[in-house]
Amino acid sequence: MAQDINLTQQLKHYFGFDKFKGDQETIIKNLMAGNDTFVLMPTGGGKSLCYQLPSLIMDGMAIVISPLIALMKNQVDVINGMSEVPGVAHYLNSSLNKAEIERVKADVLSGHTKLLYVAPESLLKEEEEKDENGNTVTVKRVKFSFLLDVKISFYAVDEAHCISEWGHDFRPEYRNIRKAVDILGRAPIIALTATATDKVRSDIKKTLGIPEAKEFKSSFNRPNLYYEVRNKTKDIDTQIVKFIKQHPGKSGIIYCLSRKKVEELAEVLKVNDIKAAPYHAGLDSATRSQTQDDFLMERIDVIVATIAFGMGIDKPDVRFVIHYDIPKSLEGYYQETGRAGRDGGEGICIAFYSYNDLKKLEKFMEGKPVAEQDIGRQLLAETAAYAESSVCRRKMLLHYFGEEYPKDNCGNCDNCLHPKKKIEAGKLLLIVLKAVAAVKENFRQDYIIDFVKGRATDNIVSHHHDELEEFGAGEDENDKLWNPVIRQALIAGYLKKDVENYGLLKLTSAGRQFIKKPTSFQIVEDHEYKDDGPRETTGDGATDALDGVLFKMLKDLRRDEARKAGLPPYVIFQDVSLEQMATMYPVNLQELQQIQGVGAGKSKRYGKKFIELIKKYCQENDIERPEELRVRTVAKKSMLKVQIIQAIDRQIPLDDIAEAKGLEFEELLDEIEAIVYSGTKINIDYFIDDVMDDDHVDDIYDYFMESETDDLDTAVEELGGDYTEDEIRLVRIKFLSEQAN
Ligand code: ADP
Ligand code: MG
Repeated sequence: MAQDINLTQQLKHYFGFDKFKGDQETIIKNLMAGNDTFVLMPTGGGKSLCYQLPSLIMDGMAIVISPLIALMKNQVDVINGMSEVPGVAHYLNSSLNKAEIERVKADVLSGHTKLLYVAPESLLKEEEEKDENGNTVTVKRVKFSFLLDVKISFYAVDEAHCISEWGHDFRPEYRNIRKAVDILGRAPIIALTATATDKVRSDIKKTLGIPEAKEFKSSFNRPNLYYEVRNKTKDIDTQIVKFIKQHPGKSGIIYCLSRKKVEELAEVLKVNDIKAAPYHAGLDSATRSQTQDDFLMERIDVIVATIAFGMGIDKPDVRFVIHYDIPKSLEGYYQETGRAGRDGGEGICIAFYSYNDLKKLEKFMEGKPVAEQDIGRQLLAETAAYAESSVCRRKMLLHYFGEEYPKDNCGNCDNCLHPKKKIEAGKLLLIVLKAVAAVKENFRQDYIIDFVKGRATDNIVSHHHDELEEFGAGEDENDKLWNPVIRQALIAGYLKKDVENYGLLKLTSAGRQFIKKPTSFQIVEDHEYKDDGPRETTGDGATDALDGVLFKMLKDLRRDEARKAGLPPYVIFQDVSLEQMATMYPVNLQELQQIQGVGAGKSKRYGKKFIELIKKYCQENDIERPEELRVRTVAKKSMLKVQIIQAIDRQIPLDDIAEAKGLEFEELLDEIEAIVYSGTKINIDYFIDDVMDDDHVDDIYDYFMESETDDLDTAVEELGGDYTEDEIRLVRIKFLSEQAN
């Protein structure tokens, strides 16, 4: 009992915490009693403390193996900040220079250091030497031999899932940990991870050589997270923009698989006035840490990232995590979604699923070694099963991590909020179970499905399984049901997947019982995802749903406004803009700016009356505005436009700009006109003054002031052929910029 009080006191003393979180205390006691220990605790559960605290109390020095070099320094600084002893914590990894290593060595040998973080690749080195027969052999040696001269209190293996190829972050160097322990001297081992399926768990114990380790497993359930899987359709960008706009000011992370997509999507969000930034390993470290910082300080709301982002990021109030592409494994997915709602508040997790993505990922794997491909495929298949299933998402996830969720409906995932009708599948289950038994529980799901369907594949024929009585027993059944039957039989505990040879379907005792005495078995059918692929960014919204009455009213308003301002109507808004307004019903200035041809300037200058009219019209006519606001896409040429605007700001002659950009002069004018028509004000007086007479400019300007249209051909004709087309266009740009924008 004395130890109890002691531990809590020590906790308070070093960490300033009043009590332990979850199982921390029992875990620490188990380790301090000299036992190997296995900790499964979700991210943020407080795993570090399970080795940090005992290392400070116990005799000797603890070695912590962690793959996250970037986080080592941070953790070491924290520990050193808590203790009066200088050098109580240190780290060894490839980032240290000679002098720094000497510092570590001195502190370690003096006995000051209680906690040493070591990168797995810094544990051992390989050396060649001659054996007694004179043959050259490679042997593994400790990289830093001074470690042989200290007493090791225990070894902590953090992020222990890195040991297994079945985890989501396999590191081959983790395989050597046990060897290093044997060389340095055996002491208790504590392995810690936030994600581990049964398979990974068994790999960890086997590879570390701790089969008897006591397991401490916290529940992985995150009741505050909402899970949803959506069909990845052409309008995915629109859906995402809409989602973010419906959650203004909230922090979120969007994961994409490629850097290119990260960049593109971040751009789309930015042009839609969302404070977003890209994050991937290809960006320099200064930019990355700035982005992290901006996210933490809420200068930006949304980070679009590859999986490089998030490890070690501790923002408690991330409100949504979106997977733009299907994740490569459910472990990765769970880890990434786990970054939402750490404070226990709202956490919306949406993943977009498409069969095409799945095929693409499988294709990527083709260059890899066969064994790795096989693992990769099976992990992907688990993700696909999760996406396609209509079973409670929480139940599926927890089942995947070896935990049983007691309820059928969690009330906080898409499948539970919109449950599908159950259908009776007892007969199908019986066929499947009998098939599994017939092939001696030695085959995977795909094989079993071929078998019950009666498909004599090469594989089946080579095993002579086509000769069995059970072969083809399900020929006449609905093909679409086999996958859901098997998956749901796994969840219900009639079948299980073998841990040693992952994926082989085995019968459980409940499964055997069912064969003897079949009962009812109800399942839900899978979702059917249409595959129309993500949208290539296209141009403008259609105007097929034009509201003719409103359009007419808007035109009248425009005429009145034009008259008041002494301007031609088209200067206020062009017809296309009015058409879109009469389709989209924008009712505030922000929405108005999403209308084609309406920029910030125009909406501020002329917008108010228009949105008021639209709002009133909507109210009086009970109009339901379309949910779908037009989402701005990144025009391919937007970079060019920006460069042109910058060049004009610097008063570079237009012909020089055209040349620099490899454009014909007319093409440059096209670009500038597009800029002006979208509502951006630009000033090209410096150029006009240079190339045209003042009275010519005035003459053309006056014409546009009087004219009913800005049409170029009309202008050329009306102006009687006195001016060139280029001159007229230049002045029209000046005119629109000054009067319309
Ligand atoms: P994990 O490695 O499991 O993801 P960490 O070890 O990084 O989690 O701990 C997550 C957070 O919980 C840290 O901010 C840590 O300071 C805090 N924490 C850990 N143990 C306690 C405790 N007993 N009381 C209060 N806070 C704790
Ligand atoms: Mg940790």
